[in-house]
Amino acid sequence: MTEQEVRQNLVYAYQFLAEFKMDDLTYTHLSARVPGGSHFYIYPFGFLFSEVTTQDLLTVTLQGEVLQGTEMQYNKTGYVIHSNIYRTRKDINAIFHLHTPMGVAVSAMECGLLPISQFSLHFYNRIAYHSYNSLALDDEEHGVKLVQDLAIHKVMMLRNHGTLTCGSTIHEAFFYAYYLEQACRVQCMALASGQPLIYPPSHTCEKAALDMRAFEPDLGYRDWQALKRRFLKKNKLVGDSGFEPLAPAV
Ligand SMILES: [Zn+2]
Repeated sequence: MTEQEVRQNLVYAYQFLAEFKMDDLTYTHLSARVPGGSHFYIYPFGFLFSEVTTQDLLTVTLQGEVLQGTEMQYNKTGYVIHSNIYRTRKDINAIFHLHTPMGVAVSAMECGLLPISQFSLHFYNRIAYHSYNSLALDDEEHGVKLVQDLAIHKVMMLRNHGTLTCGSTIHEAFFYAYYLEQACRVQCMALASGQPLIYPPSHTCEKAALDMRAFEPDLGYRDWQALKRRFLKKNKLVGDSGFEPLAPAV
């Protein structure tokens, strides 16, 4: 992907998550690694997801220096979370951090994400947990620990706080964010019903997780293309070359 394609796809992610109402005013953040590896793109602090355009994205080094944009526009928690992961996980090129109420609710449950729906089986034995320790403002105290807790995984519950999903592509990080939300929603609804729950046996859960990966090798790609088509049609745009995310929806 070219730098412009990465910028466009990151803006699509902001737009799609806004459409799905998975944003939180101006406080959560999505980023993507610049091709080549030593910088990343992220939103300007103070923007709603629905407002972010390719022109507004900040370019930040993995050491936290803002190369494009201004320091004032930079959400420090974004730097601590994203840069620490990019520095240590070369396989990760996109990171989404969200505060959806369903994600926060499950993050606060001692049981964590339960294997009670096909949605949640995507994450069976493939999800990490990170204890809450106030705002992620400190590299040592928050960033390093966060990376340790993430370990080999791409998805993590931030206890009492929200979720983190990563991908080797932007559409993979989106796929996890969307299906983690679905899994959390089902869990909240199922627990609220008060009915006894059915847990598939562990070997079935593991098989489902493997089968779903094999079924969709480039995880999320087909959905991503469909969402892009819908977005362009809705906004009467002709394609990525005419990409103008601030065009009024019709
Ligand atoms: Zn947060």
